[in-house]
Amino acid sequence: MSRCNCCGYRGSFATWNGRRVRCPTCGSKPRHRVVAAVLERRPHWLEGRNVLHVAAEKCLRDLIEPAARVYRAPKRCNVLRLRYADEAFDLVLLNHVLQHVYDDVRALHELRRVLSPRGVLLLTVPTAGATSESTNGRETPAERLAKWGHPGHWRVYGRDNLVVRLMRAEYESAGWDDVRDWRPPPAADKLHRGLVFWALVGREVLS
Ligand SMILES: [Zn+2]
Repeated sequence: MSRCNCCGYRGSFATWNGRRVRCPTCGSKPRHRVVAAVLERRPHWLEGRNVLHVAAEKCLRDLIEPAARVYRAPKRCNVLRLRYADEAFDLVLLNHVLQHVYDDVRALHELRRVLSPRGVLLLTVPTAGATSESTNGRETPAERLAKWGHPGHWRVYGRDNLVVRLMRAEYESAGWDDVRDWRPPPAADKLHRGLVFWALVGREVLS
């Protein structure tokens, strides 16, 4: 029996992309449940904070909106040019968006711009082990589908490489949590679904 830590459902999951990973009650997938697990463990990143939720998925909205002041950015918003003021948010949630952005470091810079001096960026991306492979800018959509699993993806990330990109975007520190080892496990069924990356603007973590 699986447990959904977004909505509390317990039971069998529904099939999504050939795997039984989708919560039948709230629609969450592993990418959402790993974020919920991180916020469960670090509630001070959320509670009472100004939060920007990019591509605001309903299963996470129901979880975070009672706890914080949440601003929803539409699914197709331009993360290279956000319409928000400097330092407007304490937390930005970015779930499976960055791999669709050609100039991802520029997007990370722009996200940093809207984060407060002690803000946190929390993101998930498809990952493949420790190394990554990125675009040369010339691949066709068919080649991108073959290489990176989706015609709109520009790369697959590796753990260390994404941290390097976050540091290039001038975050003070960056790292990741592998939530598969946490108890209770948040029903993250594959390696690349178990990683949640975070980056801190300032030297201190929000407390
Ligand atoms: Zn659920």
